[in-house]
Amino acid sequence: MRGDLPQLGQDPRVTYRMGIMGGTFDPIHNGHLVAAEQAFDDLGLDVVVFMPAGRPAFKQKKHVTSGEDRYAMTLLATSDNPHFIASRFEVDRDGITYTADTLTYLSEMYPPNVELYFITGADAIAEVVSWKDADKIAELAHMVGATRPGYDLAHAKRAIAESPYDFDVTYLEVPALAISSSYLRARVKAGQSLRYLTPDQVTGYIHKHQLYGVRPRRYGSTAL
Ligand code: ATP
Ligand code: MG
Repeated sequence: MRGDLPQLGQDPRVTYRMGIMGGTFDPIHNGHLVAAEQAFDDLGLDVVVFMPAGRPAFKQKKHVTSGEDRYAMTLLATSDNPHFIASRFEVDRDGITYTADTLTYLSEMYPPNVELYFITGADAIAEVVSWKDADKIAELAHMVGATRPGYDLAHAKRAIAESPYDFDVTYLEVPALAISSSYLRARVKAGQSLRYLTPDQVTGYIHKHQLYGVRPRRYGSTAL
């Protein structure tokens, strides 16, 4: 077992539920954290593992911050929650990250009494049906589709219903946060505050490492 993955499945009489929150997390924000916490509560999960993608399959043409930085911010954002874990698993893998490969590895590593719950927002759940080896994803994990402002869950439901694969999806009402990593990056570039949009430790990391076009200032403080 990789060191940063949770120990689960010890008692064969018990069913364990492991949530997996995948994403680029460039940077991680409160929308991700709220969705994961809601999934933890509503589905009775034992733990949620946040896995920043190594090289995201569908963001090949875009500039993506290094895996190290995205992992570090994910670690900082999850560190005060006892049932959240940040994993380097995908960041350390070579090549493009495919969710089906990650789920295959996890289902081989853990005993059968550990159930996998892959958590996504309404935009991503609509796309899962067209991801590589979608049939494997459907076979290996339960899906969790969280509401997300600006994205229609009905559209996601249609895409799932029309898929030839048998996805098991739980739809989840999440306290609405109309924020995205793109929005946070744009705010940083414009010198605007990130307070209440992502944990302060993440903001501190962004400034310390001058990510997303933060300009260091000699005098006065940068917008935190
Ligand atoms: P970007 O703007 O760069 O695409 P993002 O905010 O969409 O960033 P991702 O890393 O692409 O973040 O998303 C990871 C997962 O988190 C996806 O399943 C996405 O649907 C979900 N998610 C992101 N933001 C929210 C939000 N505000 N509410 C609910 N789910 C969200
Ligand atoms: Mg996104």
